[in-house]
Amino acid sequence: MLKPTRRTSLPEVVINELMDAIRDGTYSPGDRLPSEQELMGILGVGRSSIREAIRVLVVLGVVDTKPGRGAIVLPLPSLPSLNKGAELALHLHRSAMLDLLEMREAIEGQAALLAAARATPADLAELDRCMQLVEERVVGGRNYFKANLSFHLAVAKASRNAYIIEGVQQLLTQLRSFHERLMTEDAAMRDRDVAEHRAIVEGIRRRDGEQARAAAIAHMVSSAEAARGFATPTAPKGTGLIRAVATPSGGLCRRG
Ligand SMILES: [Zn+2]
Repeated sequence: MLKPTRRTSLPEVVINELMDAIRDGTYSPGDRLPSEQELMGILGVGRSSIREAIRVLVVLGVVDTKPGRGAIVLPLPSLPSLNKGAELALHLHRSAMLDLLEMREAIEGQAALLAAARATPADLAELDRCMQLVEERVVGGRNYFKANLSFHLAVAKASRNAYIIEGVQQLLTQLRSFHERLMTEDAAMRDRDVAEHRAIVEGIRRRDGEQARAAAIAHMVSSAEAARGFATPTAPKGTGLIRAVATPSGGLCRRG
């Protein structure tokens, strides 16, 4: 049976509910899943989460969609294997990572801009220390997740804005395991991180707010390229946008 989910409107929750319902026979091969509208009502989540979930299920070969007919459950042999399950987790984490980086682009661009205007000599010294720690750990081939967090937090602290500091702290601790995998398995990204951190610090030290902001934004875009390409060598590159495809908007203020 499908049942209302927690109020987290995540595609992942919807996927789990639908997979459970297919596994327990609520929907058999050949059955049509409830419409988007119906699923929104049953599961209590927004349209964009339903659409993202259905897209993933299509990719995994669990359902097929036909215009005007909705999503049809495919025969059992097409159900995802364990390997597909890992792919699904990767897809969800990658998608969340890109959303996270879009948010970080906004907040850390602003942090760098303000830091260039407000950083004290002590802030600059702290930035240097944190930057060097990241470099040492990268050179030593060690995990630099925490050192990276400290560096980004040091930029935020130099902005002297308590909400920015709190925001960066919150955002940087998300999706740790996926981020660590990227840092461990993508050697090119490690080197880029070092160079890009230098560019951010350079902008702040020269009191050039626009340069600092541009460097911070470039760092997020480059991280997104790494995330998008992670384990999918055919992923499109070089769009300059963190996420090339816009999620269809459900609209918070729709009439009716
Ligand atoms: Zn970084």
